[in-house]
This record gives sequence, C-alpha cells and structure tokens, in this order.
Amino acid sequence: MTLPERLATIDARIAAAALAAGRDPASITRIVVTKFHPASLITDLAALGVRDIGENRQQELSAKIDEIAPLDGVHWHFIGQLQSNKAKAVARAAAVVPLSVHTVDRPALAGALDRALEAAEAGPIDAFVQVNLTDDPARGGAHPDDALAVADAVAGCARLRLRGVMAVAPFGEDPAPAFDRLAAVSERIRTVDTAASAISAGMTGDFEQAIAAGATHLRIGSAITGNRPPRG
Ligand SMILES: *Cc1c(COP(=O)(O)O)cnc(C)c1O
Repeated sequence: MTLPERLATIDARIAAAALAAGRDPASITRIVVTKFHPASLITDLAALGVRDIGENRQQELSAKIDEIAPLDGVHWHFIGQLQSNKAKAVARAAAVVPLSVHTVDRPALAGALDRALEAAEAGPIDAFVQVNLTDDPARGGAHPDDALAVADAVAGCARLRLRGVMAVAPFGEDPAPAFDRLAAVSERIRTVDTAASAISAGMTGDFEQAIAAGATHLRIGSAITGNRPPRG
C-alpha cells in the first residue's frame, strides 16, 4: 500500500470503531507518529491533509522543526519521555510551532516546562498528564494514585493548559482493562478542571480498543508510516 492508502485505511478503521462505540469520529484526533523517519515524511503527510504530527525525542523534534517548520496548519505533539533539562528545548520549539506535550508525569517537570515557556515567551500550551499503567516504575508516567497531584501542578502553571491524560498500554496484556483504568484516572482529573477531558491513548496495535474506552487522541505510527527505519 502507498502512504495515502495506508492513511485512508486507518482513518476508515478509526471511523468504524468510533461509530461502533456510539461516538462521533470527528471527536477523535489522529496523530501520525513520525519518529525515526525523515522530515520529508512530515511534509508528505501535510500535503495529504494530516494536521497532527507526533515525535518522541526532543532532539529529533527540534531538528525536524528547524528543517521544515512552519508547516501551515500542522500541530506538533511531543509524546516521549521528557527530562527537566530538555524543557528549554521543548519550550523553544513551542515558540516556533503549535505544540502539545503528552508526557508531563511529575510536578517538577510541569514547573520546569512552565518556567522554560515563560523564558521563551511561548505558550500557553496543552499538557497531558502521563499515567503509568504498568507495575514497572521505570516506565514513564505517574502512578495512577499520583496523577491528580501532577494535574494540580499543571493546573497551577500559567503557561500550561491541563488537557487530559495520556498512557501507553502495557506490553503483552489485554489493553482493554488498562484503558479502562486510564478512563478512571481521567474521571478524577476532571475534578481539577472539567475541560481536561482529553484521553491520549491507542497506537497501531490497540487504537480500536482505545476508542472503545474513550480515547480522544490516537498516536498511530507504523500502521500509517510503514516500518520505522532503525533508531538513529
Ligand atoms: C512510537 C509511539 C507510538 C506509535 O507507535 P506505533 O505502534 O508505531 O503506532 C505511540 N505512542 C508513543 C508514546 C510512541 O513512542
């Protein structure tokens, strides 16, 4: 299949899954994850009408923005682990392009991002609280019991808009119960801000289950882009 065919196939599956769940397909944002691919893929996707692009490494995000931005109408999503010492670079990117950060998982990171955005005269930007759905603390994300405190911290930052929650389903497990746990955290986060209703969940292997569990932002890579080149 060609890139336009893969895109159309996935969009048809998204629409079908949304309708099966009694949801409006237009309420779902499909982010195309372009990590490890050249920046030219993003230009190609934009020409096909793609408006949301996801990257998971700060250096790659910044390099691609330097190479091709601004791209009319394209919104960028940072979806990778973020160390506080990369907050400045992410803030500089947010000064150049519309950017959301999906991986705020501790109060200190929210603070670092907020200060960096102020210094870069960027923002406010949308921020998602990343939730760890595994038992492994080394995986990214706040423990579900700590997510509310992270949400509170984000809500207290002038340059961050609390948008909702984000998670990656655990490997080798049925994703459906994990996405249900995420939906429960989402309910709690809405007590901080009723507008923080977004749920970023669902990848190539599990986006239909994520839609059934209420995902509003899908992060789909290989099903659309084809196999990723080896990590650079
Ligand atoms: C790479 C990545 C994706 C997309 O993965 P695919 O399985 O290729 O769809 C989604 N979310 C995150 C956080 C990723 O790093």
